[in-house]
Amino acid sequence: MDFLTPTQPTPLQELHDEVVRKAGVRLLIKRDDLIHPVVSGNKWRKLKYNLVRARELGYNTLVTFGGAYSNHLFALAAAGSVADFSTIGIVRGDELTPQSSPTLQYCQEQGMQLHFVSREEYRHKDEGALVASLLGQHRNIFVVPEGGSNELALPGVREMVQEVEAQLIGQPDYFAVAAGTGGTTAGILSALAPVLAFSALKGGGFLREEINTLVGKEALTAHLQLITNYHFGGYARYTSELLDFIRGFEQQHQIPLEQVYTGKMLFGLYDLMRKGYFTPGSTLVAVHTGGLQGRLASLNQVD
Ligand SMILES: *Cc1c(COP(=O)(O)O)cnc(C)c1O
Repeated sequence: MDFLTPTQPTPLQELHDEVVRKAGVRLLIKRDDLIHPVVSGNKWRKLKYNLVRARELGYNTLVTFGGAYSNHLFALAAAGSVADFSTIGIVRGDELTPQSSPTLQYCQEQGMQLHFVSREEYRHKDEGALVASLLGQHRNIFVVPEGGSNELALPGVREMVQEVEAQLIGQPDYFAVAAGTGGTTAGILSALAPVLAFSALKGGGFLREEINTLVGKEALTAHLQLITNYHFGGYARYTSELLDFIRGFEQQHQIPLEQVYTGKMLFGLYDLMRKGYFTPGSTLVAVHTGGLQGRLASLNQVD
């Protein structure tokens, strides 16, 4: 499959269980984890029009940024090799090597050229300056920001919303989505759809500003409810309570989750359903944003 050709709509699957029944809501899950064998979920949606633009403008190399476990870095390396772009990854942490994580190993295997920079430098330089200092000013490279969250990410995410609206024959009362940089949330808002965004990071309040900046029109964020108390200690942190929830959900619904994003979002959503947060009769669409490459192996062990 060429990365740049249209895909079939991903399944929209209804979930039935005790919590959903008691809350009196309709819960569906948008299976964007199935959108592509390697470039999964929201990363595919966000990269799509970045790659289209890069190709239109005649670029043959993509550069981006991320940490050792970044799903975005992984997705861009995969997308580049599928769509025939060279790729460069600028990685946070100069103590790292390509062997430091399965993600980095995979990126290198896809042909991504990796540059490791100190956390200091990564934090303090803007992305353009980092690229220039590492690669020189005049290279023919298309820069995709960290997380892939730029203006070009929005139309791809809007296509997901349009798919759901066609599948449901209407708009849900809420989309529920996990948020890291807020790009996916912004994309849904840009389709004028209401969103419940669950921050995967501690102190996720800053996301409102990021999302505002991306969507452009302040008014649109009136549709946003930002939920910041299901971070489980911070980005990529987890607890046994979270892992138990994921195992239970997977067993009941036969849908795999992971502990960084989708597990936290669904934990939060189920908690809110239990607490009577939603008006009975509401329709909720949880977006499965993928990311299963980062799923903990220990989730397979039942204890
Ligand atoms: C990156 C990622 C997110 C966060 O998306 P943002 O657009 O950065 O908010 C959510 N879920 C998964 C599985 C991801 O990989």
